[in-house]
Amino acid sequence: MSIDTLVANRIRPEIRALQAYPVGKAAGMIKLDAMENPFQWPEEMVAEWQALLAGCALNRYPHPVAPEVVAGLRDVMSVSDEYEVLLGNGSDEIIQLLTMAVAKPGATVMAPEPGFVMYKMISTFVGTEFVGVPLNADFSLNMDAMLAAIAETSPALIYLAQPNNPTGNLWAEEDLTAIIEASSALVVLDEAYLPFSSRNHLSWLDRYDNVVVMRTLSKVGLAGLRLGMLFGRREWLSEVDKIRMPYNINVLTQASAAFALKHYDVLESQCQVLCRERTRLAAALAELGYEVFPSEANFILARGNQVRQTFEQLKEKNILIKCLDGAHPLLSECLRFTVGSPEENTALLSALTEIHA
Ligand code: PMP
Repeated sequence: MSIDTLVANRIRPEIRALQAYPVGKAAGMIKLDAMENPFQWPEEMVAEWQALLAGCALNRYPHPVAPEVVAGLRDVMSVSDEYEVLLGNGSDEIIQLLTMAVAKPGATVMAPEPGFVMYKMISTFVGTEFVGVPLNADFSLNMDAMLAAIAETSPALIYLAQPNNPTGNLWAEEDLTAIIEASSALVVLDEAYLPFSSRNHLSWLDRYDNVVVMRTLSKVGLAGLRLGMLFGRREWLSEVDKIRMPYNINVLTQASAAFALKHYDVLESQCQVLCRERTRLAAALAELGYEVFPSEANFILARGNQVRQTFEQLKEKNILIKCLDGAHPLLSECLRFTVGSPEENTALLSALTEIHA
């Protein structure tokens, strides 16, 4: 039997039909495609961190629940002892744990679309049905469609990313509460872009038994560490924790995250620079003729003309952004620009000015 037949006989057809998550080659490019923080740490902070890493015992397994990291998170994010904290290897891993935990036969997972692609991909990996409910053309929630889909499919898990990726906006609070109240699903408020947003949903844990709040250190400047976290009631988190691998947060991540949380003010002030740059970039993109959508995140979604060509031309000029044309009908002719450093944004804008001249 050929290797292809052996594989085809064993691997689930829905997995064989998948395309691997595309991560473009970016060496040497101005990278404005993945919502990373472009800034370095001050030199003395780097030196202190490196000294700390030198003392890490790589021959030992990590602490199973990373107490220093949990304490640091509770401190900088004001999470009360009333709620549990579960850590993941990025919030991607938490999405996987949540999906596995609810995946009874016939269970469905729901999220508005366009949204973060991993909600759907992980549903496919785990074997749960994913129901994507289209947003309105202005990227607000289509409440008739959401409530109808909830009534029809009775989802087990609903993801609401606030701000939403890739649209960058917040949804009306009354729409979010209507969804939470209409459903007995576990509703995950995904605050990946909280450091750039004007709304924080942590206090919603007090109001709703069916809500958990998910965050990440990726966008604030630690994408390379892979640390995501889930806050919520013990009743939910203790169940999810049973399927977490005991050593999912490695020794170096634990030490680095605990250190970074002690210097969280440095990361926060970097985020403030990015928020100011977001305003500048949005105005300049509008000036260049783009329809710019309001953003509460560290990226800007904008609609132009012949954007696939613009994307390629930027790539030739060593600037990588995200082209979303074709990703969803509502995203036709849309580009997503991660807000970079002032120098990177200036380089992007002068490249775009040349392209559109
Ligand atoms: N949620 C949203 C809405 C995202 O956009 C992302 C990253 N693009 C994530 C979660 C995952 O973040 P990470 O795995 O890096 O924590």
